Amino acid sequence: MHRRRAAGAVALAAIACLAAACSPATGPSATTQADAPPAPPPIVVEHARVFDGERDLGEVTLVIRDGLIERVARAGAGDLPADAERIDYRGRFIVPGLVNAHAHVGNTEGTAHGDRFYTREHVVRDLRQFQAYGVTTVMSLGMNGAAFGDIRHAVAGDPSLGAGGGIGAPGGAPPAANMGLVHDPVARPATAAEARAAVRAQAESGVDIIKLWVDELGGQVAPMAPEVYRATIDEAHRQKLLAAAHIHDLAPAADLVAGGLDIVAHGVRDRAVDPAFVAAMRTSNAGYIATLQIDEANYVYAERPEWLETPFLRNALPETVRAQWSDPQWRADKLRDPQTAKARAALATNLRNLSALREAGVRLGFGTDAGALPHRVPGFAEHRELELMMQAGFTPQQALTVATRDSAHLLRLDDRGLLQPGRRADFIVVAADPLADIRNLRTIEAVWQAGRRVAGPVAEYRAP
Ligand SMILES: [Zn+2]
Repeated sequence: MHRRRAAGAVALAAIACLAAACSPATGPSATTQADAPPAPPPIVVEHARVFDGERDLGEVTLVIRDGLIERVARAGAGDLPADAERIDYRGRFIVPGLVNAHAHVGNTEGTAHGDRFYTREHVVRDLRQFQAYGVTTVMSLGMNGAAFGDIRHAVAGDPSLGAGGGIGAPGGAPPAANMGLVHDPVARPATAAEARAAVRAQAESGVDIIKLWVDELGGQVAPMAPEVYRATIDEAHRQKLLAAAHIHDLAPAADLVAGGLDIVAHGVRDRAVDPAFVAAMRTSNAGYIATLQIDEANYVYAERPEWLETPFLRNALPETVRAQWSDPQWRADKLRDPQTAKARAALATNLRNLSALREAGVRLGFGTDAGALPHRVPGFAEHRELELMMQAGFTPQQALTVATRDSAHLLRLDDRGLLQPGRRADFIVVAADPLADIRNLRTIEAVWQAGRRVAGPVAEYRAP
C-alpha cells in the first residue's frame, strides 16, 4: 500500500498501512499471500447519528471493510453485505476520531518529566491514554529521543506520528535544563548549513515533519537566528516535509510565515495579531494551532475548578499527580507564582487571537501540547481544548471540524479525519449529542481505529 505513495509520504503512509493492519492475524505485513487467512467480514454500524467531520448526517449506516469506511448508507438500506458483522449503536452519536497535531509522548512519569522517560513502555502508555479519550491520531511534535524510529516501528498499530528530535537553538528553546533533556534529542544548528544538514539527517531517519522552536522565552534564552530558521524551513520543503514551529510571540511568527512555514504550532500570546499577520496567514495558507489549554494548565488545577474531581479528569491522572493537586501548599504556591498571572493573560490573548483568525477564515489545526509536562494531561487536554474553543466563538460543530477534518488535512493525512468512503474508520461513539454541547463528547462508550474497536468506555479507563 505505501509503495504507491510519493517518496516524501512514505513514512506517513507506512503508519497508516500498519495501523489498518494492527491485528497480526489479518495484517498483510504479518503473513505471506499463500498462508493469508480469509479476509475478515465487513462491519455494519447501524442506528447511530453520525457527524462525518463536516456535516450532521442524521441517522445513517456505516459499512466498514478492511479498516476503511466503504460506504455511508441511508438508515434502513436493504442492500448491505449479507456476511457483515452488525453493530447496533441505537441512540448513540458518532464523530471522527480526534487528530492532535501537537502533542508529545514518552516525556513524563508521575510528576516528573524529561527525555529519560522516552521508552517504548511510556510511549505506548501515552498513546493508549490518548486513544481511550478518543484521540486516534497523535503527532508527537519534537523532543522524541533517538529511539523514535524503532519505537514508532514497534508500536505501528498505535496512532502515532512524529517529528523526531526537532530543531532548536544552541542554548535556546526548548531549554534543555527545564525540559529535563539529559541526552538532548534536539538538533541545535548554529548556521544555515548546519540547519540543512540537521533537517536532512532527520528526514533520513524517517520523521514525518520538521519541528522548530523560535522563542526566546521572554528574553531568557538565546534566539534562533533568522537564517537558521529560514534554511530549516526551506530544507524541510526540499525533503518534502512540512515545517511546524513552536512560537509564543507575534514577531517571530510573522517572520516564520514569511519564510514559508507550514504550521504555527502555538497561538500568538504576547499581543493581538495585526491585519498584516492575518493577511499573511491567509495568503500563505499556513495553518494555526492555538493550543489554548497549554497556559491554562499551568494554573487551573490549583484553582480547584468544580470539574477537578470529575472521573473524566481524575481517571487520566497518575496517583502522584492527583496527590500533588490535592496538596494545599502546592496550590497556594502555584497561585502565588508570578507565572500564573502571565499564564492567565496569555490564555486571554490566545482566545482573542484565535477568535480573530477564525473570523478571518485562516486555516486551523488542533493541538494541545499534552504529554510534554505532567499537568498537560493526554486525553483530558483535548476535551478541555474543545471546551475552550467555545470561548473563542466556535460552535461545537465548528470545533469538531477543526479537530478532525482540518487537523488531518493540515498534516496531509488525507486518509482520515472524515467519515467518508475510502477514509480510515477512526471514530468515537458517544452517549450524548456533542453538537448540542461539546462536553457531551466526554460520554465516550467506544473508540474505533482503522475499523477495530480499540478502547472504551472511557469511564472504565484508569491512568497507570
Ligand atoms: Zn510541544
